[in-house]
Amino acid sequence: MTYRVQKGLVYLVGAGPGDPGLLSIKAKSILEQADVVIYDNLVNPKVLEWLKPEARSIFVGKSSGQHSIPQEEINALLVKEAKNDVSIVRLKGGDPLVFGRAGEEVDTLGSAGIHYEIVPGITAAIACAAYAGIPISQRNISSSIIFLTGHENPEKTSLNLDFKEYAKSNATLCIYMGIGQLKRIVGELLEGGLNKDTPVAIIENGTYVKQRSCFSTLSQIIEDSEAMSIKAPAIVFVGDVVNSRSQYTWFEEKPLFGKKILVPRPRKQAGELSQLLENYGADVLEVPFIDIQEDYNRDSITNVFTDITSYEWIVFTSSNGVDLFFDLLDKAYQDIRSIGLSQIATVGKATARAVRNHKLKVSLMPEVANSNALADALIEHQTLDNVKILLVTGDKNSDVLFKRLQDEGRAIVDRLPLYKNVRTDLSENENFQRFKESGVDCVLFTSSSTVHNYVEATKSLEFPKGLKPKFGSIGVKTSETLRKHNMPIAFESPKANLDNFVVETLSYFRNTK
Ligand code: SAH
Repeated sequence: MTYRVQKGLVYLVGAGPGDPGLLSIKAKSILEQADVVIYDNLVNPKVLEWLKPEARSIFVGKSSGQHSIPQEEINALLVKEAKNDVSIVRLKGGDPLVFGRAGEEVDTLGSAGIHYEIVPGITAAIACAAYAGIPISQRNISSSIIFLTGHENPEKTSLNLDFKEYAKSNATLCIYMGIGQLKRIVGELLEGGLNKDTPVAIIENGTYVKQRSCFSTLSQIIEDSEAMSIKAPAIVFVGDVVNSRSQYTWFEEKPLFGKKILVPRPRKQAGELSQLLENYGADVLEVPFIDIQEDYNRDSITNVFTDITSYEWIVFTSSNGVDLFFDLLDKAYQDIRSIGLSQIATVGKATARAVRNHKLKVSLMPEVANSNALADALIEHQTLDNVKILLVTGDKNSDVLFKRLQDEGRAIVDRLPLYKNVRTDLSENENFQRFKESGVDCVLFTSSSTVHNYVEATKSLEFPKGLKPKFGSIGVKTSETLRKHNMPIAFESPKANLDNFVVETLSYFRNTK
């Protein structure tokens, strides 16, 4: 479902508590089309990856206790941008209207005659309760829920609550911005008559893979949360429902929860592996040590396309090749039928999927995703004597396939290189900085080229003791390259595909617990 975004309009959008999966479909759709996005630091930067490349994002770093940009300036910025006839998203953590000062922004827009829409988000209390397994309302235990703010607003425009008033409410108390004021809050609740054994939970960085939970009681919570050095952003839950939480903490018990894993692939290709790992709770750092750049010779394209129907097979070795090939074909012919009746073979599932996205059938895809396996499969499939094959590739890794099809299979092979791998400048890359500072548990290599580029980019890095990452390899070929660089292999996937690689990663961490 897509919402058509209008120019000159301000969308106040809730970015949810952190997990990018918790934004609404409407919020995502608006973000994808926005021209300008003005966001706070409670917003997970991952959702900004959805913006179109030419969109501008403006950070107005608003966090509890410190305002890098005063609210008046944010209001003025909104008005200024809206007058430029662009679509603007004011993106706020959680729900924009829950302790988010959106009301003041709405007032400003209203008086400036600027139209706006509000897209609600999942507020931190609801999300944290779910991710910690706390039923915030429960029959016979608590039938009311109160959202409170513990912090005095730094600009002193909000009221300072007296928590004594809530001690007898019998409600589940969900206290936002309560960490800095925890002693006062606990003191007032006790003074107001709340039993010292009342269960309390604090959920820090809820729904992020770095989520931590502290379960305690009213009289113990200060000591316990200090022992864990719990910090903002965190929600404090007070009430008997905390004891009814499920004993199975589904989120924090995920098999890769809290494991930091580096995925050294170009961004476009990293997504699938990262997603699989994140599903298991891993904290994934994508660092694009290499990037893909279009690189082809117009004359060879013209030659190949003129004769495209003469190929019995078209072989793709990567999804980049697939997408570029069909883009170029479309530019030349505007008709998919121009491909004729050639059969298609691919290395790897992701490549096959890219072909399927163009509504074409993949006739051959060996289970093991490497060039040798594809050469074996083609040679076994039929005699290739004098059969014309087109090999769509990048600038690397096609020699084996080319030689084997030509020499062993005696096929007539034309190569069509469409892109090259280039090294990326990582000096400004935040994930790379994080990696340098705090290391990772493991780096997952999915190809020899990523190994080469990783080695290049990290050769002068000194990891602090104990932070040296372990290396996982997707298969035999990649392991060979790792060995050449004297990099110890912690585990190797028995089959060179992403699903198997993830299964192997899970079993590695299970066994090293
Ligand atoms: N509009 C936001 C709340 C902003 S106030 C919402 O609806 O969630 C900021 C406070 O929200 C933080 O101090 C913290 O108490 C809470 N908060 C926001 N994100 C959180 C998270 N991921 N985990 C725990 N608490 C969070």
